[in-house]
Parts: sequence; C-alpha cells; structure tokens
Amino acid sequence: MQIRAAVLWNIGEPLEVVDLALSPPGQGELLIKVEAAGLCHSDLSVIEGVRPRPMPMVLGHEAAGEVLEVGPGVDDVRVGDHVVLSFVPSCGTCLPCQDDRPALCEPGATSNTAGELLGGGRRLSVDGTHVHHHLGVSAFSEQAVVDRRSAVVIDPDIPWQTAALFGCAMLTGVGAVRNAGRLRPGRPAGVWGLGGVGLAALLALIADGADPVIAVDPDPAKQQAARDLGATFAIGPDAAVRDVVPGGLDLAIEAVGRVSALEAALDATARGGTTVTVGLPHPQDALSLSPLRLVAESRSLVGSYLGSGSAARDIPAMIADWRTGRLPVDALRSGTIGFDGLNEAMAALQRGEVFRQVLLPNGPGDPKSQ
Ligand SMILES: [Zn+2]
Ligand SMILES: [Zn+2]
Repeated sequence: MQIRAAVLWNIGEPLEVVDLALSPPGQGELLIKVEAAGLCHSDLSVIEGVRPRPMPMVLGHEAAGEVLEVGPGVDDVRVGDHVVLSFVPSCGTCLPCQDDRPALCEPGATSNTAGELLGGGRRLSVDGTHVHHHLGVSAFSEQAVVDRRSAVVIDPDIPWQTAALFGCAMLTGVGAVRNAGRLRPGRPAGVWGLGGVGLAALLALIADGADPVIAVDPDPAKQQAARDLGATFAIGPDAAVRDVVPGGLDLAIEAVGRVSALEAALDATARGGTTVTVGLPHPQDALSLSPLRLVAESRSLVGSYLGSGSAARDIPAMIADWRTGRLPVDALRSGTIGFDGLNEAMAALQRGEVFRQVLLPNGPGDPKSQ
C-alpha cells in the first residue's frame, strides 16, 4: 500500500514528505492509523546527527493511533483498538525483560539501533530502496506497521493528542521522577530544561508532593508556564538554586542534554541527594565529577531511559492520574501541525520555544482528535 510520510534522507537535511510503500503487518505486527504524533527533541537529535541512525528514516517515536489491521499471531489486540506506541519494543524473554526492566530490552535496543522492527527488517520502501524505522514507531506517517510489543492498548475515549504524549514525554519525564528518582514527598526537588520531557517531570514533582519545586529554563515564557502549573520557583540557568533553596535539592532531574546542565543539577542537590539524567547529550561529551563527593556525601547519579519502568504498566497508571486531574498532561501541548508545518515546527523545537507540538498526519479528523 502507498502512504505519505516525512522522510529524513540524510543527516542535517530537512524532512521531505513523500509517498512510500508500506508492507502489510507480518507475524506479530499491527497496522496503525497514526492519529497524533508528538515532536520530540530525540527526533531533532537524529536530524542533527547527535543520535546516529541508518538513513533514510521516517522519524517520529511518540504517537497514538487506531489499529487498522492485525497480523498473524496477534490475539490480544483487535481492529479498532486505540493504542499508544512505545519507543522501545520489549521482547519479554531476554534477561532485562525477565528482570522486569523492559526499557533495557536487548533485542529491542538492537532493532532500534538498526532502524528495524523487533521482528527484523523494514516495512517501508520507496522505489525499491528500504526506509528505516525510528525506534520501532516511525510516526511521522499516515500509517505505520509496528510490532505488537511496541503498542499499549488504551481506553478509546482519550483524545489522540493527549494520548500520544504518554508514549515519550510522559513515560520518560514522570518515570524519571517516580521510578528512577524515587521522589520523597515534602522534600525539595527540581527539573532542568522545560521541553516536553522536563515539563512532564515537573508535573510529576508537583503531583507527588515535592516541596518546594524548582524549574530551571532560560525561556521566561516557559518559566511562567511552570509557575502557573504550581512550581514554587522558576529561574534561569544562570540563577543559583541555592539562593532559593539554601539547603539544596533532594532530587534533581536533568532534561536538557547538556553537560553544563547536568553539572548544575548535581551541584544543586544536597548531601544524600539524587540526580537523574534523561537528556541526550552529544556522544562525545564527557562529564568530570569528583568520585569523593559521590562517596563522602552519599550522592547518587542515575541515568534513566524510557522512564526506567514498563510502558505497559506505567502508561495506564499515568492515564489514570490524568483522568483525576493529578497529571494535567494537556499543559504539554503547544499546538498542532500538518505535514507542511513539520520542518518549521522542528526549527521551533530547536530554538527551545515550545513544549510539545503534535503532528496530525491524517488531518484534524473527528473532534476527538482535538
Ligand atoms: Zn522522545
Ligand atoms: Zn527483551
């Protein structure tokens, strides 16, 4: 079948919307109509070459959609089901999966790095040339074939644009606070970088009772948004956290992807504090830190990928918190675009002006997508 999708042909180039051939879903796979796809900084990192991936590739790894077709061997998903896509397919049988660490699934990581689906190979092509999948999802596309193990079935009443955000921003940001950071209510905590992931982490800090809550971002509009959501202090990266929290933070979340931000987060924590890093810096970047401080001050530095949890378990729990108003996910939304606005939206993301812009590959559709 022919579908329209945004292809990255080479690193550093604009995305080009073209017609591609999409194979039908194979064993254990699903065909998804992509209803909403968030633009994440990790997509930008692939364009910029910070996350090297095989080219050409259809980007987009944070999405929600409807199941159009079910491949052989899938017996727990039906046509018409609504799903959120997760950017690490989890095989369920490798050592990390058996150890309840599906975000570290080894075949999932291998297939993601190769730009293939978990079952192996690619389903996208143009004029006989294979096009790679981004993190098993490739959502900047009208339709996508994904592995069943990349999909989490959700209730059908959740608006598409809200649902999509659970796939990366919420899973990563809230998971950093809850799974990796093990936030202790009533203790001071902060987040560096108010992109989609950072804002999601901020929502979790507020929801789970950190006190005070600090947000650090250079953009005054984002600082104001953080205050409006309930951050106690929102400051720029040049301001000193210890001016507002003299004792330092119990938990710091770094969601910028720069060494300077990680150093600032580490320095802002109190003795015994934990720093969780979720940003994706350049692979050549290196951090210099004092091991003595880690030991003598009982500090923890924790890396977190995909929220250090389980998409299948955590997404429904976060959706439940969204329903009660505990996690006001819609605060992340920075408007919608069609394919024709994709490159300009990527530029706005690069300039740090937005939280989450959402691509509607099939147009606005029914009111539910609003
Ligand atoms: Zn992402
Ligand atoms: Zn696995």
